Amino acid sequence: MSVTKLEEHIFLIDAETAGIKNFVASYVLKGEQVAMVETGPTSSVPNLLAGLKQLKVKPEDVAYVAVSHIHLDHAGGVGALLKHLPKARVIVHPRGAPHLVHPEKLWEQSKMVLGSITEFYGKPQPVPEDRILAAADGMVFDVGNGISLKVVETLGHASHHQSYYELSSQGIFSGDAAGIYLSEIDVVVPTTPAPFRLDVALASLNKLMSFTPVNLFYSHFGRASGATRKLEMYAQQLRLWEEIAKHGLEKGESAESIGEQIFERDMAVREASEYIKVHPVLGDTVLTHSVQGVVDFVQKYG
Ligand SMILES: [Zn+2]
Repeated sequence: MSVTKLEEHIFLIDAETAGIKNFVASYVLKGEQVAMVETGPTSSVPNLLAGLKQLKVKPEDVAYVAVSHIHLDHAGGVGALLKHLPKARVIVHPRGAPHLVHPEKLWEQSKMVLGSITEFYGKPQPVPEDRILAAADGMVFDVGNGISLKVVETLGHASHHQSYYELSSQGIFSGDAAGIYLSEIDVVVPTTPAPFRLDVALASLNKLMSFTPVNLFYSHFGRASGATRKLEMYAQQLRLWEEIAKHGLEKGESAESIGEQIFERDMAVREASEYIKVHPVLGDTVLTHSVQGVVDFVQKYG
């Protein structure tokens, strides 16, 4: 676990899920009260608690735990975390909320899709229904001292994905809507697992750009400046993947061969290849699941 101060009021806790650094971020926003964005999975909740302690955050001061979506690497830990935060309520998209209350199906599906990776993450614990705020687009949650989170519905990666705009930093907590930022090599790679909606994801990126943000706070991983440019480039990257998948499918090629062409033509992916290949999670998620998600999208809607 490590804690980094990003802005006067914004801190990053590296959840170090399964000992992997720079992979899962949880953000702490300190106003008069405290808000957190993302929890990471169940297995790294002890690291979050250690991070809060280091930041001298009293558990009863945490008012909100906002999650971008319910996938285990973003919100799997919320049930376990809430047991330690007596006053916190969870901000989640209305379509995600039922899965936090009854996480069994989510757990079973995650095991099917992610296989052994779920063992790194741990089983999600249920969240009491009365602690959930199913939040709609545009809602603002204020923690005082000029610090607030505005909900920005950003579907595409998932049908229940939302980002959060934070005015004081002109920053967006983008969840998985803006891709995976490999901060150590300054490269963004797509996170587009099925059932990915590329058209909807592009609309979400436009919506995020309309805030003309300065900072992006990626869940994977960390802060990046030049936010608008990064969002534009991610949109371009998704269009390139779509084009490669379209041509490949027209010629009857397999997802694997389409993946190889993406690898050839997407300079960012190429640049990231060594990093991704040896990464315990990203090897599968980027090179297999993300490619398949775009191929499936083109097959269904392209
Ligand atoms: Zn993720």
